[in-house]
Amino acid sequence: MKYAIIGYPVEHSLSPLMHEAGFKALGLNAVYDRFPVTLAGIQDGINYLLEHNYSGWNVTYPLKEAIIPFLTELSPEARDIGAVNTVKVVKGVLLGHNTDGEGFCRSLSSQGFNWRLKKAVILGAGGAAKALAVALARRGVNILILNRTENKAEKLAKQIATLGGKAAWGGLHAGDWLQEVDLLIQTTPIGMQGEKIPIELRGIRPSAWVIDLIYKPAVTPFLAQAAFYGCKTLNGLPMLLYQGALAWEYWLGIKAPIEVMQKALEEQTRK
Ligand code: NAP
Repeated sequence: MKYAIIGYPVEHSLSPLMHEAGFKALGLNAVYDRFPVTLAGIQDGINYLLEHNYSGWNVTYPLKEAIIPFLTELSPEARDIGAVNTVKVVKGVLLGHNTDGEGFCRSLSSQGFNWRLKKAVILGAGGAAKALAVALARRGVNILILNRTENKAEKLAKQIATLGGKAAWGGLHAGDWLQEVDLLIQTTPIGMQGEKIPIELRGIRPSAWVIDLIYKPAVTPFLAQAAFYGCKTLNGLPMLLYQGALAWEYWLGIKAPIEVMQKALEEQTRK
């Protein structure tokens, strides 16, 4: 069996390492490759994967939305999010799914997060925020979306409402929400180079969980600030792990060896 990740750039993707560690642990005769594919090269990329009998592949930036017209069918998650991160080939037919949002939620559940009566604040309104907002709304979580470009937050909040969820929006700044938030999720790239988010967390409850989708560095200034105020913190590695584990279930119909894959990721990111 052959799997891959496509997108641009993909040379730093940790998906090959994570999936191959899992294949090896279970003794599966499977490989996981990476192919740089740009928007302009998407048709050629898909042709290549089909001609070379790939059973499925992951899709990353900038192809998650652009790949949709090339697919025959979308899962409900992919349809609601409007983006695909996992493709499966069944008898030559291309099926699209999205495991980002559910992967995120599973990563929290695996750490014992209690989903009842939760208020979530999402910083950012891009692709990742959208996947998370859809998954949180499906769990009945009240969502506030804060974004630098406020009308993008508004658009996403309104989309969540059309899916039956509860979402409000605002600009990227602190507010009364700080005293009430149970789950605060940072989905912008701010912090990858050590930059600070323009939000001071003084007043946040120590019972709040604070997640940053960035995993390199493992502790962004935002997460460090949340830890200072006593919050439970998680970086983006658990989400990466669980979106990959859900891809296994979609492709192979089996549970992924989570511990092995997690160990491979942690060893690599510790370097
Ligand atoms: P995206 O669609 O490009 O969205 C980026 C978001 O960040 C937008 O809301 C944008 O706001 C905001 N933003 C960017 N630069 C900013 C700045 N300097 N100040 C304030 N806001 C800024 O990107 P994405 O696909 O959602 O990815 C976002 C992050 O999540 C990336 O760091 C990515 O690596 C990470 N991610 C992690 C995982 C995982 O498994 N851990 C999965 C997916 C993504 P505007 O609308 O104002 O431009």
